[in-house]
Amino acid sequence: MKKRQKKILQQQIDEAKKLAGNGLIVLGSNASIGACELCGAKDEELRPYGPNGENICFDCGMKDRDTTEKQMGKFLNFGE
Ligand SMILES: [Zn+2]
Repeated sequence: MKKRQKKILQQQIDEAKKLAGNGLIVLGSNASIGACELCGAKDEELRPYGPNGENICFDCGMKDRDTTEKQMGKFLNFGE
């Protein structure tokens, strides 16, 4: 994750934590904040794009773009 991006995300996390306490914070667009289910990184913005629907961080998503894009497509088509 790029530094600037991370700083902005950190601010969003801090604000969201104030509102939600320490539980998993659900953002819009299927995103949530928590620990990545693949690499274990904490306080990451997660999306359910892992190979089996795991909540994964941006870095893991970029490591396996094919899977991420496939999973993304599932969510985009969901309910439409
Ligand atoms: Zn990860």
